[in-house]
Amino acid sequence: MNLFDSVDTLKGIGPKTAEVLKKYGIRTVRDFFYNLPRDYENYARPVSIAGIRPGKVIVKGKIDSLSTRRARRRNLSITEGVIRDKTGAIKVVWFNQSYRIRQFEPEKEYFFTGDYEFRNGKYSLTSPSAVLASDVDTTSGLSPVYVAHGKLKSSDFKRLMNGSRDKFALIPDLLPTVRPGVRKDALFFAHFPNSLKSAEGAREYLAYEELFELILAAKLNRQENDRLRATEIPFDASLVREFVASLPFKLTNAQRLASWEIFQDMTRPTPMNRLLQGDVGSGKTMVAAMAAYEAISGGAQVALLAPTAILATQHYESLKKLLEPFHITVALLTGATKDKKNLKVAISQGKISLVIGTHALLTDDTDFLNLGLVVIDEQHRFGVEQRQKLMLKSPPGLAPHLLAMTATPIPRSLQLTLFGDLDVSILNELPAGRQPVKTSLITEVETKERLYPAIREVLSRRPDAKKHGDRAHGQQVYWICKAIEENGISETTSVKTRCKKLQDSFPKCRVEFLHGKMKPADKDAVMERFSSGEIDILVSTTVVEVGVDVPNATLMVVENAESYGLAQLHQLRGRVGRGASESFCFLLTSGDARPSKRLLELERSNDGFHLAEVDLKLRGPGEIYGSLQHGALDLRIASLSDTKLIHRAQEDVKKFLMEPENMLKYKELMQGITKYQQITTLN
Ligand code: ADP
Ligand code: MG
Repeated sequence: MNLFDSVDTLKGIGPKTAEVLKKYGIRTVRDFFYNLPRDYENYARPVSIAGIRPGKVIVKGKIDSLSTRRARRRNLSITEGVIRDKTGAIKVVWFNQSYRIRQFEPEKEYFFTGDYEFRNGKYSLTSPSAVLASDVDTTSGLSPVYVAHGKLKSSDFKRLMNGSRDKFALIPDLLPTVRPGVRKDALFFAHFPNSLKSAEGAREYLAYEELFELILAAKLNRQENDRLRATEIPFDASLVREFVASLPFKLTNAQRLASWEIFQDMTRPTPMNRLLQGDVGSGKTMVAAMAAYEAISGGAQVALLAPTAILATQHYESLKKLLEPFHITVALLTGATKDKKNLKVAISQGKISLVIGTHALLTDDTDFLNLGLVVIDEQHRFGVEQRQKLMLKSPPGLAPHLLAMTATPIPRSLQLTLFGDLDVSILNELPAGRQPVKTSLITEVETKERLYPAIREVLSRRPDAKKHGDRAHGQQVYWICKAIEENGISETTSVKTRCKKLQDSFPKCRVEFLHGKMKPADKDAVMERFSSGEIDILVSTTVVEVGVDVPNATLMVVENAESYGLAQLHQLRGRVGRGASESFCFLLTSGDARPSKRLLELERSNDGFHLAEVDLKLRGPGEIYGSLQHGALDLRIASLSDTKLIHRAQEDVKKFLMEPENMLKYKELMQGITKYQQITTLN
């Protein structure tokens, strides 16, 4: 048996079943064995009907009096019956499962698993799954539950697994660092547990295996990176001092430390591969500016990639102001840039030192003479291939230094595993004088009495900063609407409707809107007017989420707050609280349900790192990873908060790498980790 054989070489899996499996990513024999149960039903201790309580239950009994009827509501069939054991009887009901009528034999016993709940005036067992009692392994009483894939239900997977039961003994070892045979046992007991303990042991080993692969992938990425060459940028203390002295403010200690780490990295002949994490408003752009300044003074060109035209333009304007006094040429390259051709010629001749742009930077005809540093803002917005494209624009044989920036903090546990081999700098300090944003949850019905007065108050305050909002009458407001179509109402309509309502309520104010469907040039124009203070209230979709910096905006309203994730709300909120004035964020909810844990945490805390930990607990690592990196990390079992297991895997990977011939010997392992290598790399 070869684990990489196609799945249809297994008994009982024909071309049709294989087709379905393939659609769900189960292509090989290996994939099939690793399609682990999501859970186990424990049939060892069913409840007696006399002692039943509401909630999830397992009962063992016979079924009778089954009948199906149509409900008054169209398209709904209701199948009802009675389940009996020695102690009593309960009602059972299924919706749209009329096949249940034919499923049961009256004299046989079944296990029923489902919710015992109060519905339409009485208690019943709702939509339980049912298995023949004689089919369940009687020694353990455990039965695996698989995620259904298309037509293939959990019971189908059980049947197919059973068909290959004797194949497990042939599974070879994967890792050198564990007891021989442990892998085949683990896979076997994951599918056919003879006790809860054996199932748990199996999963622990498989989690370990997964962590081992993940960590090995990260370590190999690191080794590969260290084999590349980069332009060495000598550190010039007097240049840096001069630049820092020109700034209108003092750097925070965190900015100082991060830039020092970057300067050190760039002096080396291997490319820097550093992630700069900093909460919204922590001043990452300034750190990027210093890195760019240093690299350019060392003779290299620098590219800064931003996810949106608004953001690229803003970076362009602030960096130009900072760097042009030092005779550094700065250019902006977005889709809307006129005369791209001449600009690209200038870039290829090295006449432009710093190019700031969007995806337009990535096209094949954008060549650099000597690209030495790449800065990627909001790096999770870009895919691996996009980042790669830019990295390949260095002179032949050289790779640029890479500084990736993100405002989504990585929880520490994730950092230790996935990002364990990345260099990370953290801006954990906000510039002096900032005040935390005051966040309140309010319901829609309170809009007029609580929210409007707060808005009025902010609009009548003196403008915050001189630089920004120099044409402002008072301070400014963001009002965030849903960015997706809902109940047939498009983002355009919802933004326009809200805009009109606000204009009616605040007749003396200038209210305008912004949404994703607008032409880039129109968007930029609106943003420009908001930035200069001509607009008092900006009604917008989440297009303002990323990086926009208007310190005179001090109040934000987020409609439908419950529909956003924690990280995104924190990002949005970061658009206010950027100046010296007290700022506010109102999270508007429908008020139908109790506010979620997410929103309550957001109301309590302004600390992005704390919120990231909470988010990790609430959503699990897969989701978090998706928002950090483009592309999902699909961990089957490993928990990234299991520090003990992580530590063991780290130690074992270290040992594994000490013997380079291992990489040739363990072919399956090396083949399996390429997918992890792709997602744990920055460049
Ligand atoms: P982010 O980390 O969210 O990208 P920015 O780089 O946009 O933050 O910086 C936010 C604001 O803080 C900008 O207006 C910037 O000029 C300002 N800023 C950056 N560093 C400092 C500092 N050390 N002191 C005061 N203001 C700063
Ligand atoms: Mg930013």
